[in-house]
This record gives sequence, structure tokens and C-alpha cells, in this order.
Amino acid sequence: MRNVVIGLGGMYDKAPPSSAFPTLRRLFTNEGYLSKLQNSGALPILLPVVPEEDLEQLVLLCDGILLAGGPDIDPSFYNEERHVLCGPSDREVDRYQLQLFYLARKHRKPILGICRGAQLINVAQGGTLHQDYRLQSEKAVLHPDYENWGSESHTITIACDSKLFGIFQNQTLGVNSLHHQSIATLGKDCIPTAVCCDSSIEAIELSSGAWCLGVQWHPEAMGSGMDCLFDAFIDEARKANT
Ligand code: MN
Repeated sequence: MRNVVIGLGGMYDKAPPSSAFPTLRRLFTNEGYLSKLQNSGALPILLPVVPEEDLEQLVLLCDGILLAGGPDIDPSFYNEERHVLCGPSDREVDRYQLQLFYLARKHRKPILGICRGAQLINVAQGGTLHQDYRLQSEKAVLHPDYENWGSESHTITIACDSKLFGIFQNQTLGVNSLHHQSIATLGKDCIPTAVCCDSSIEAIELSSGAWCLGVQWHPEAMGSGMDCLFDAFIDEARKANT
């Protein structure tokens, strides 16, 4: 039996000044995603920015799609003006990753969204984002907590009737918090399944179609306590393929 193949939406980045070709862009993903996927028995593959027709072919080669963390989504994709606190965006990558989401949905591929990936699911479904956590009504929690990169920064409360609860078997979970944006209005069929004590949405699930779950934290940067999330995603991808 062949391995479960998980496609990751790539991002562009400028090569560092130390590179032999500092003016060139690179397609990348972070190693943490790859190692967690491999650890859970999947074969990860980085998907390039290609025209939609070609992207559809690539999606069909995959059993599931991981939408990773990254820069802020351009606010025009949720019909808002850019706020001064919004970080830089790459509209080309945004457009491509939205296409990747729609194609994965069309072909009923399970999707795991992480941080920006969770936000992208919400935006693709017609929802909006807080362009910075300081624009939320409650501000008790410091969400971009880079001091605790791979460890618990705040707790979240998980809804009992959610897929997430089925995975973690707990209503309370300690998570890291490396985001400065968060979900504002929910997109179509987006169910908020975990919140922080400041009522910030920390996870969503789609109530229709194939398995689709988005988490606001970075499980790939945390320890083995997060492996169950990747295991569950890969199980769904395996099932969807058989
Ligand atoms: Mn958070």
C-alpha cells in the first residue's frame, strides 16, 4: 500500500542576502510541517504556484492538503481596506492558496489549516479577519507570544461536540500562539470549535463536505502532544483515498 500523500501549499520568499542569488524568490515551507507529517506516516510534497488547471492535476495526486502558516492574507480577499496594523501580503500566493483550497474541496480532499491556513479557510468561505489582535474587542491575551515559540502560551476551550474534541479528548488544551490576526466573522459552514478566554477563535471546522479543520496555533512547533492532530488528519486522508 502506498503512503498517504499530503500536498502543502508553497509560499514565496526572497532569498537571503547571503545567498548566491539574493534577488531570486524561493518557494518554501517550514520543516516542522514536513517532519510532523512524516512522523505520522505521510509523504509530504510541496506544491508550486502553477495555473489552476495544473494545480488541479497536482491536487488529484494528493490525498489531503495542508495549508500552512505564513504572511497576512491581503484584506481585499475579504473586501476590507488594509489597516495600518496589517502585515505585508503576497496577493499571488493568496490567490493560489485560495484556488488550492477550492480544488481540494471540489475533490473532497481532507484539509488541515494551520494559523494563516485556518484564516484562509475562513476567508475562502466568505468570512473576515481581525487585521490585528489589538483590534478585537477584548485584549486580555497576548496572541503573538514569540517568547513561547514551541510551548504553551494560553489555553483554549474546545467544544464537546467537535472533531477537535474527538482528537484531543479534552475540553482544555494549552497551545502556543504565534498569530497577530484572528477570525472575525465566520464564513459559510465554519463552526468555531475552540476559543481562548478573550473569545478569540482558535479553531474552526467546516460542517459540510470533506473533513476540514483549521487551528490558530502552531501544532508543528509543539511536542508530541500535538501528534494526534496530524494522525487524525492523515487517517482522514487515507480514508478519503480508499
Ligand atoms: Mn492564540
